[in-house]
Amino acid sequence: MDKKTVRDVDVSGKKVIVRCDFNVPIDDGGNITDDTRISASLPTIRYLCEGGAKVILMSHLGRPKGKVDDKYSLSPVAKRLGELLGTDVLMADDVIGEDAAKKASELAEEQIMLLENVRFHKEETENDPGFAKKLADMADIYVNDAFGAAHRAHASTAGIAKHLPAVAGFLIEKELKALGQALENPARPFTAVLGGAKVSSKIGVISNLLDRVDNLLIGGGMAYTFFKAKGLNVGKSLLEVDHIQTAVKALEDAKQKGVNLVLPSDVVVATAFNNDAKHHTVDAEGIPEQYMGLDIGDKTIGAFRDIILGSATVVWNGPMGAFEMPNFAKGTREVAEAMARCGGATIVGGGDSAAAVKRMGYADSMTHVSTGGGASLELLEGKELPGIAALMNK
Ligand code: ADP
Ligand code: MG
Repeated sequence: MDKKTVRDVDVSGKKVIVRCDFNVPIDDGGNITDDTRISASLPTIRYLCEGGAKVILMSHLGRPKGKVDDKYSLSPVAKRLGELLGTDVLMADDVIGEDAAKKASELAEEQIMLLENVRFHKEETENDPGFAKKLADMADIYVNDAFGAAHRAHASTAGIAKHLPAVAGFLIEKELKALGQALENPARPFTAVLGGAKVSSKIGVISNLLDRVDNLLIGGGMAYTFFKAKGLNVGKSLLEVDHIQTAVKALEDAKQKGVNLVLPSDVVVATAFNNDAKHHTVDAEGIPEQYMGLDIGDKTIGAFRDIILGSATVVWNGPMGAFEMPNFAKGTREVAEAMARCGGATIVGGGDSAAAVKRMGYADSMTHVSTGGGASLELLEGKELPGIAALMNK
């Protein structure tokens, strides 16, 4: 990585403001239902404390739309973070207000405080320079460790870096290493598994990957636009008419670049988008008019599994079917299982794919499961993330 990290700055006695991604799911009772993102921030926070820093944390949570809204308070996060660290985390009542400023100025070395939700100010998402300056004024050094927000050019992810020495935390370093290594210098064979709902949301990923992979396995809803591009009937399956040409071009590019692009040879079709709908498996050429494809079939699972097991690097983005419904989750589960068994580097990027892998119990068997859906998608597209571009070069 060509960006400076927390290892490259002396934090002893300094006030360090750290942008984390504490955007965790919270239920109606105010309970955090998945604290993966909080856990992922611990190495950087611990490192700064051990180095004698005064630590100021900030994050967004949900979409409070620029207004103070208790429903989106970060208080539950301060509490959980304190439990995970085994130390008290001081919670500020505001972001750049009196309470935050007072608590920040009184911080002792190794003490940790958390500002309120940065999106309580509309200036955050507007990347307002004045707001970014006020955040910066509280500290001496800026650390970005919010990988999940690094694709946004906001005040706390990009603007603030103009005012302070700005470095990456360990989570951002780890995410960039996993995805960067796979994209820039993969052990081969390199296989990408792509799925999810739509071709349109993955065009950039497809074209970037076609320049890099040996195998491109396509499942999920996007497969049907590819079927159509090959002249097959897709019944009531998800189809993006405007992107049939995109699929035609991808098929041509794959051939020209020598990429083994594999489409499903069979799919599970159902009469409706409903777990209880009548369903059965058909060959790709035989999708009945009144049916929609909701998962890959067993023949396809077998073919995908063989390729995955024979790969030295596998990157996966997008579920193989409508996995939220148990009757259409098998393809996604079997791909996860094959990746878990694969001896090579296995990386999962994408919000829904990561959620599926976690829910199905395979997260610990992967080399890396990204904490950022949108951010990992943009890395897979080959884009530079504004929250990372803003940091100091080595
Ligand atoms: P990710 O977040 O991993 O990038 P996407 O957001 O692109 O993935 O797609 C996830 C969604 O795609 C899931 O909600 C899933 O139900 C849907 N999906 C997958 N296959 C199909 C299909 N055959 N028909 C309709 N929806 C599908
Ligand atoms: Mg998604």
